[in-house]
Amino acid sequence: MSTVVASRAMMSVVNPATEEVIAEIHDWSPEEACTRADRAAGEQPRWARVAPRERAEVLRRVFELMRDRAGELADLVVTENGKSIGDARSEVAYGAEFFRWFSEEAARIEGSVSLAPSGDKRILIEHQPAGVAVLVTPWNFPIAMATRKIAPALAAGCGAVLKPASETPLSALAIADICLEAGVPEGLVSVVPSSQSGATVQALLDHEAVRVLSFTGSTEVGRILLHEAADRVINVSMELGGNAPFVVCADADMDRAVEGAMVAKMRNGGAACTAANRFIVHERVADEFTRRLAARMAALRVGPGSDPSNDVGPLVNAQEQAKVNELVAAAVAAGATAITGASPASGPGFYVTPTVLADVSASAGILETEIFGPVAPIVTFTDEEEAVALANRGHHGLISYVFTADLTRGLQLAERLEAGMVGLNRGVVSDPAAPFGGWKQSGIGREGGHVGIHEFLETKYIAAEW
Ligand code: NAP
Repeated sequence: MSTVVASRAMMSVVNPATEEVIAEIHDWSPEEACTRADRAAGEQPRWARVAPRERAEVLRRVFELMRDRAGELADLVVTENGKSIGDARSEVAYGAEFFRWFSEEAARIEGSVSLAPSGDKRILIEHQPAGVAVLVTPWNFPIAMATRKIAPALAAGCGAVLKPASETPLSALAIADICLEAGVPEGLVSVVPSSQSGATVQALLDHEAVRVLSFTGSTEVGRILLHEAADRVINVSMELGGNAPFVVCADADMDRAVEGAMVAKMRNGGAACTAANRFIVHERVADEFTRRLAARMAALRVGPGSDPSNDVGPLVNAQEQAKVNELVAAAVAAGATAITGASPASGPGFYVTPTVLADVSASAGILETEIFGPVAPIVTFTDEEEAVALANRGHHGLISYVFTADLTRGLQLAERLEAGMVGLNRGVVSDPAAPFGGWKQSGIGREGGHVGIHEFLETKYIAAEW
């Protein structure tokens, strides 16, 4: 797949660590993007007839090529997204695993046959590829969010057109090239970076061959796309924003809780939908937790992600940087105490200083907004009822974290939390073999696990007599 078409409209990709343009790529218009949906529609019926084992082997080759090129891919992620090289390597490994997992799932799409309760017929159930899927991805995991969608779409027998985030199109284009090299038919999967994201996705959703929309991004944009998908009643999968509570009980092992907090907060420099957004800590251990977390945050080295001695890279652009700095300033103005950080980071590059805020009032705006940066606000609780009420507040429900030494308490709390995922004494939960997704306004549907492939399958019931 060609990434540069000189005579057409172009868009720039910027390195957030230097603010320099690193690439000029083809900027797809809505009409051009629709020609890729035409191509996918032309190829998809043939791909759907390819034996599942053969499809699986193509996916497996993508996994192997990604593993072989992990170093180059990680460097690319750092260059366009800014994250630290360590985070980028983890992302590439995680992203490649979706191809391995779905290569295994491709050969295990099961149906069933049963006798109807009335005894008058057999109930045959099978799952068929849905058709062409539109995939829309964010900038925070430019490889993994693409592979989490392309791999199950291909495993299911679908074609796809992916619109990556404008800040980070290069990683998705590299994955499309690897798919082609691994044997995915040309045209079955296309990546269409577009500066007209709204118009381009709308045009794709209006394309008659499109049957699935799989979106990962903010709740605000997800809501717009749900309205647009309604016009043609397209199947939707929505992986939206989070506002993860991180609950530390009085009996928690403090070493584990602080370690878990660092992972849950600082993976990807805080720019993760799963990032711990609100620390809800029992009042008896709040001082110790705050002091130890602040010491770890203050010790982080901030600088270009390409330098392996740096722990935290820049945010992706100036707007994200300004948003995080404003949230911190507003919280401090409303009475929060900055235990560390809260000072502007120097440029060039969209850096934010790792920050820990104590004495945050339970009604502070920072607790209701997805921070998406290296900032940890801490509130305290006195009993579990209060912790659960605080954790379940708001319209997000992607993930919650609980730290306690008492497994019974942990499981009981986990069951009471309104979230699609819970990290129990763990700061990271993502796994291609597990269903990833949210409750409430954090999403619809699940990616990964055994259910992930079903986002790209239609169920057929055949009432049969023999
Ligand atoms: P975003 O602003 O919602 O953008 C996501 C994607 O949608 C980008 O490709 C963007 O293109 C496109 N887009 C923007 N406006 C659109 C419109 N009107 N119509 C169609 N497409 C449109 O999100 P982001 O800032 O890239 O990513 C951060 C958000 O993603 C956070 O809220 C985070 O929680 C969420 N996220 C969720 C998960 C999950 O699995 N639940 C995982 C990762 C991230 P442009 O770049 O061209 O604007």
